[in-house]
Amino acid sequence: MRKKIVAGNWKMNKNLQEGIALAQEVNNRVKALAPQNVTVIVGTPFIHLSEVNKVADVITVSAQNCAAEASGAYTGEVSAAMVASTGCKYVILGHSERRSYYGETDEILVKKVGHALENNLEIIFCVGEVLAEREAEKHFDIVKSQLSKGLFQLSTEQFAHIVIAYEPVWAIGTGKTATSAQAEEMHKFIRKTIAEKYGETTADNTTILYGGSCNSKNADELFSQPNVDGGLIGGASLKADDFMTIITARENHQ
Ligand code: PEP
Repeated sequence: MRKKIVAGNWKMNKNLQEGIALAQEVNNRVKALAPQNVTVIVGTPFIHLSEVNKVADVITVSAQNCAAEASGAYTGEVSAAMVASTGCKYVILGHSERRSYYGETDEILVKKVGHALENNLEIIFCVGEVLAEREAEKHFDIVKSQLSKGLFQLSTEQFAHIVIAYEPVWAIGTGKTATSAQAEEMHKFIRKTIAEKYGETTADNTTILYGGSCNSKNADELFSQPNVDGGLIGGASLKADDFMTIITARENHQ
């Protein structure tokens, strides 16, 4: 059975003290809720990782990025080994903001994925089309290309450490969510694409998250879809009440 996951992506928000307080609150409330079937992840800025880990006993901590190189003279970078040394278990890679603002190509992502796996990190790998690509009906081709160029170099054993996040770029931070039918259609396509490469068992076991203005109001409808295994949540993960509503929606849809 594939894992159900609700993962927050805090992006560049919250100073250290605010981040610890938010993580502590979410951790305590998840402990009280005691979900049986949902893994809750918080994706924090690098500087939070170590401290947030100390307060996270029922939630899991993720980085939002790691370097494409292992170590050395790369001022300002943070390696996968450094991320893992904080006790952090996950890393988000290929987020559309990294791809578009920081020029992360498929080739760079292949290197990052390799370093993350070498350091035993689980990867939340983001894919998704921009609005013009959807309007030109190229969204399936774009997502297939991102999957195959960024991930399909992996062995079946390595691919077991990948969670996919489908995040249509036109829905991120815009308040414009994909309909549950659009999300399900793409998630089904992603699963089929994985099955063609790695077989049905691997495809069935792969967690596929939806991201893009998923919030406390629409999460329930999105999670009712059979191929939507959870969410990667930006803005709504910064408010404990909203994030908890989303976690509860996932738990209630088993
Ligand atoms: C994201 O950036 O991963 C995201 C899903 O953001 P938002 O929920 O704010 O659209």
